Amino acid sequence: MNQIGNGINRFYDPVERAAETARIVCRGNQRRYYRFRAAKFYGGIGTADCLGCCLRCLFCWSWDKVVRPGRYGKFYSPHQVAGKLITIARKKGFRQVRISGNEPTIARDHLLLVLEQIPGDIRFILETNGIMIGHDSTYAQDLSRFENLYVRVSVKGTEKAEFSQLTGADSSGFELQLRALENLARFNVPTHSAVMVSFSSPEKIKAFRKRLRGIHKEYEDFEMEELVLYGTVERRLLKAGLSFHTAYEP
Ligand code: SF4
Repeated sequence: MNQIGNGINRFYDPVERAAETARIVCRGNQRRYYRFRAAKFYGGIGTADCLGCCLRCLFCWSWDKVVRPGRYGKFYSPHQVAGKLITIARKKGFRQVRISGNEPTIARDHLLLVLEQIPGDIRFILETNGIMIGHDSTYAQDLSRFENLYVRVSVKGTEKAEFSQLTGADSSGFELQLRALENLARFNVPTHSAVMVSFSSPEKIKAFRKRLRGIHKEYEDFEMEELVLYGTVERRLLKAGLSFHTAYEP
């Protein structure tokens, strides 16, 4: 198994990477997006696919856009994004919207301005890797203002070394992901965690479950994320020498 980053990147600081990426995908309060769509997830959800992330997960289904975010899409204001999401939701009869694709939280002002414009009868599901919310607890405090917000924190692996192998990021990022869960619990933001378990042994998953329970009892029942071998994912994993399973059996 590769011990240096994820075989593609040397360890990097994910918070610094967020700032570098924001310089590419943000312009004032605007952010780059490449698609707006109705998606089938969560029983139907209006979706805006943004560009730019602070991690480089080898299993990412959107790898090319994560690595080269400036090549795709165009800039949209918070008002435009909220308007498109609301239009999709109303047209399709959905009660939920989200920003997906890459990482929504690296453009904090933009995200908060979008949230301010989503009406209370539409739930906003924030799908995040948690890095920025773990880095600054005032982020969770800002998010706590929105009663129609639900957060899903997707944790990359079950321990520090695994996190670094999967993302190429410094292992401190793993703790930031868990701190995000702590911060969100502290400010009573409805949240659940999802964990990529396809690289973890049952023992590690069990130990991680215990750790999550220690943060908040509701985090114990986390969603198990399974690897999907989209496009070039398998090639990247093999290149990095990572072994994986695609169905977890407890
Ligand atoms: S956090 Fe999500 S968008 Fe970012 S690299 Fe990982 S899987 Fe891709």
